[in-house]
Amino acid sequence: MKPPPLKNDCFALPRGVNWVPVDTALDHLRRNLTGVKGQEVVKIHDAEARFLASDVTAVTANPPTANSAVDGYGFAGGASAGEHSLPLHKGRAAAGAAFHGTVPVGAALRILTGAVLPEGVETVVLEEDVNASSAQIAFNGPLKRGANTRDAGEDAKAGDVIAHCGQRIRSQEIAIFAACGIGEVQVYKPLRIGVLSTGDEIAEAGTPPVQGRIYDANRPMLLSLVRRWGFQPVDLGHVGDDRDALRHSLDKAATQADVILTSGGASAGDEDHVSALLAEAGAIDHWRIALKPGRPLALGIWGDIPVFGLPGNPVAAFVCTLIFAAPAFRVLAGGNWRSPSGFTVPAAFSKNKKPGRREYLRARLNADGAVEVFGSEGSGRISGLSWADGLVELPDGAMDIGPGDKVHYIPFACFGE
Ligand code: AMP
Ligand code: MG
Repeated sequence: MKPPPLKNDCFALPRGVNWVPVDTALDHLRRNLTGVKGQEVVKIHDAEARFLASDVTAVTANPPTANSAVDGYGFAGGASAGEHSLPLHKGRAAAGAAFHGTVPVGAALRILTGAVLPEGVETVVLEEDVNASSAQIAFNGPLKRGANTRDAGEDAKAGDVIAHCGQRIRSQEIAIFAACGIGEVQVYKPLRIGVLSTGDEIAEAGTPPVQGRIYDANRPMLLSLVRRWGFQPVDLGHVGDDRDALRHSLDKAATQADVILTSGGASAGDEDHVSALLAEAGAIDHWRIALKPGRPLALGIWGDIPVFGLPGNPVAAFVCTLIFAAPAFRVLAGGNWRSPSGFTVPAAFSKNKKPGRREYLRARLNADGAVEVFGSEGSGRISGLSWADGLVELPDGAMDIGPGDKVHYIPFACFGE
């Protein structure tokens, strides 16, 4: 029997196989995944990275009262063009030390930033624009009525919805909650993400080198991504290419995590036990997704826990986690679906892209704002991930790219938001 002819492109698509486009795969996840976590109430101080389980309504307005936006002098009405001179009223209004009295019409009061506007003050003239003595101030108009002041509720009114169910809480949301009198929010419990490495060749980082073994790069990388994205990482360790041991590991994992990320053993080969087990459980969607670097990706359910069976190659595992797992985690955690935001930049490279698969290139911006790509596309080249700040996403179809051509760039920081 003749051996099969050699392929000169090892990424050529096998004949007769249906490749799922990236967008179809993402659409499938988007339509089929739902939140898996219960709810709890947490203090806003502990709410960072959580997903809101209900809309948040302002209890108090921000700002609660009209106040001065600058250090200066307050008076009633505006000021027409030309010179003005006003007698200084006795006293002072400062933030946290209000002036309790009425400023007479035609007089001015010393007022500091953040001070509640006293009765009789509608406008503030900036300290720097004023000549002041102990008895009076002089300045040049015009000044609109209300200049240099902030209206009560101009940012948010009591009762306004200031954040929506499914939205992720960041530092900025914590600020507006605090400003609007909210101390606690209803959120989903944290998503626990288990990370398991597979393969007989894998050794723990930091142990003495052993002939024929490679260090486990995926597990520390994935645990760190999970942590950085604000989920709860669960270290499930490493298991060899042994189906029973893997079955045992997955059973245990399903009691400790809400979703499992495995790496390695996801193809259809003899030692690809992750895909074999998921197939045995009758719950595999063994997707041959048309992306590079990436294949294979085994998506399945173990018990009732979703499993992302990532490829073993660290670059492919990283890219698949960014593209598929990150938006999925967000939904499982109670958030709404979100595509990573990127932007269009000129290419600082040339490439002749073949049709059939979406490609993600390790990339970073240069000083001119054009995007460079890493010299090697090899999916074992972890140094290229470290070199890069993001990915260039090339469309499924063919593309002939030269310097200056527009390409889509997604910074790493835009994934897992
Ligand atoms: P597999 O998907 O199991 O066929 O693995 C593909 C390639 O990735 C092989 O060269 C593996 O040795 C390598 N690999 C698998 N798991 C890891 C890991 N945890 N860290 C680094 N390389 C890995
Ligand atoms: Mg393997």
